[in-house]
Amino acid sequence: MEFETRAIHVGQEPEAQTGAVVVPIFQTSTYAQPDVGVHKGHEYSRTSNPTRDALQTCIASLEGGRHGFAFSSGMGAIGSLMTLFEAGDRVLCSDDVYGGTFRLFDKIFKNLGLVFDYVDMTDLDAVAAKLEAGPRLVWVESPTNPMLKICDISAIARLCHDRGALLGVDNTFMSPFFQRPLELGADIVMHSATKYLGGHSDVVGGILVVADDGLAERIAFAQNSFGAIPGPMDSWLLLRGLKTLALRMERHQSNATAVARHLAAHPRVREVIYPGLENHPGHALQKEQGHGFGGMISLRLDADLEGTKTFCRATQLFFLAESLGGVESLLEHPAIMTHASVPPETRQALGITDNFVRLSVGIESREDLLADLDQALDQMAAS
Ligand SMILES: *Cc1c(COP(=O)(O)O)cnc(C)c1O
Repeated sequence: MEFETRAIHVGQEPEAQTGAVVVPIFQTSTYAQPDVGVHKGHEYSRTSNPTRDALQTCIASLEGGRHGFAFSSGMGAIGSLMTLFEAGDRVLCSDDVYGGTFRLFDKIFKNLGLVFDYVDMTDLDAVAAKLEAGPRLVWVESPTNPMLKICDISAIARLCHDRGALLGVDNTFMSPFFQRPLELGADIVMHSATKYLGGHSDVVGGILVVADDGLAERIAFAQNSFGAIPGPMDSWLLLRGLKTLALRMERHQSNATAVARHLAAHPRVREVIYPGLENHPGHALQKEQGHGFGGMISLRLDADLEGTKTFCRATQLFFLAESLGGVESLLEHPAIMTHASVPPETRQALGITDNFVRLSVGIESREDLLADLDQALDQMAAS
């Protein structure tokens, strides 16, 4: 079955008792057992719940894996995964990783004895050199956030496996519609399901998918022991989001392409960073390793901090908000918003400057979006 069909059918057979075509919200914490020590497949909803099971089965299929795990948030997914490691274990991470991931590593797991190292994952020689220290896990985002750099996932997977490290890929920005890291050799795929998978900015959730049975067993143990699981209602919302993932991603991408081309030609925009533009340094690599370029764009405006703030306040359809991947367009200022917890020197080194803005292009009419950006750039120029 093709992706679009699996998104609607895998794990989602009509319900046995009534024939309901939509997986019900099994809003229950426990399950009556027919006899002592005999149950019908579920004992307690932290361990398993039919609505969550359907979501996990479906997302595992979409990522080309065998085992899916749902969590209460993306950070809940990464945090649960990190409990597989022990004090003294090393982790090698992308240097412009999602701010919340950096905070979790640097402020919590470092204190518990894990040792973190950071590297530019687009520099394979640097990655190989850092692998000499023997990390157990390598954590990659591609595209990175917010610089949208493209990393060579298969090449990094080969380097990791030569050294016995697991490769985990945060696939939030691409979604499995555009990129499937397990097929490129990664061991673990992670999502903030809050973003494209849910897709409607109405639920917070996280996902891990793996292919290996042994690794899956350890993650299932961590999921049940740590308990950062989503409730049945949130699982249901995420499952509903998956049904339209293909349609939405196509539209996010066609709108983002139009916005990127329009802004690249705009005199008030100094730089447009979008992997779908031919001049993006990772364009050819992304074309090879993925099936598309996504809906995220970063910009450098021809303005100082005040002008950039004026632009951020002036858009009407692009809401000024953290997060991304919903049907509505959003914009944010990484230096002050999502990446405030990244040390200023690191921000500077990464290029997260005062005139830097990140767009999550939604699925509205492209003409309306272009008009909204144009009027905001006019207001910025007049300020
Ligand atoms: C949002 C996000 C996360 C964190 O997920 P939450 O659902 O907010 O906990 C992790 N990685 C990336 C790339 C994200 O965008």
